[in-house]
Amino acid sequence: MIVSSQGIILKIFPYSNTSIICNVFTEDRGKLTFIAKGIRKPKNPLLSILQPFNLLEFNYYYKKNRAMHLIKEADIVFSFNHLRSNLSTILIGSTILNIINRLFEEEYPQEIVFRLTYKTLNQLSSNMEHSKKLFLFFLFHLSKQLGFMPNINRCNSCNVLFEYDVIFSLSSNSLICSNCNIHNSLDSDLVISYESLSYLILINKTHINSIMDIKISSLHLKELFHFLIAFMNSNINYMHKIKGIKEITKIYHAE
Ligand SMILES: [Zn+2]
Repeated sequence: MIVSSQGIILKIFPYSNTSIICNVFTEDRGKLTFIAKGIRKPKNPLLSILQPFNLLEFNYYYKKNRAMHLIKEADIVFSFNHLRSNLSTILIGSTILNIINRLFEEEYPQEIVFRLTYKTLNQLSSNMEHSKKLFLFFLFHLSKQLGFMPNINRCNSCNVLFEYDVIFSLSSNSLICSNCNIHNSLDSDLVISYESLSYLILINKTHINSIMDIKISSLHLKELFHFLIAFMNSNINYMHKIKGIKEITKIYHAE
C-alpha cells in the first residue's frame, strides 16, 4: 500500500553501496524506518532532500509489522536549515532529534510530541539567540507529554504553595519545600531557586511563539537546565547519555 506522511529525519545511515536507511519521526505513525534504494548515485535529487532539519512529505510502500518501508518519493515541505549556521543550534537541534529517536518505539503515534518537535526546530532556525530557552521549553513540554512532570506549584509532600526555594528530591522524584526536606535530605537533592521556578511556571504558560519575550538570565537558564536533565534522568535512566547532552551542558555554563 502506498501511503504518504509528513515527517522529520532523526538519523540517517548508508546501506549497501548505493542506498540509505533512515529513522523518521512521522506525524501520523510515530517513528518509522525507511529505506531509499539506489539514491547514493551522482545527481540523484533525493539524496539532498533526505536530510535532517527538513519537514518532508514521504510517499512510501507501507507494510504493517515490516521493519523497513521503501521510500517511493520525498519532497521538502519546510526547511529548518537556517539552524545549521550556528554551532549551538546545530547541537541543540541534533540533540532534540537524538532524544526523540531514543525515546520512542516504532509505530507509536505521538502527534503532540511531533508538533512540539516541529515547532521547536522551526523556532530554533529563526530565533537562534533564544536557543537555550527553546531547549528548556522542549524538555519541559516533552516531560509533560510523557506524563512525568511533577507539580511545579505545590510541595509534593505537604501541598503548600511554593514561595521560597524548592528542592528536587530524587528519592520521591518530585519537588518539595525546604520544610519537608529537613528530615530526609540527600546529597543528590537539587536546590532550585524560587526565581528559577517562577520562570519554569512562566515557560509552562507561554506559547512557543512568545518564548522570545521572556527574559531569563544565564544563571537561571543554567539552573533550570540542570533541574530538567536531572529530573528527566531520574525517569529515563539513559537521558544524560544521549548524544549531545554533555556538549549542551557546556553551552549553559558559558556566559
Ligand atoms: Zn512541604
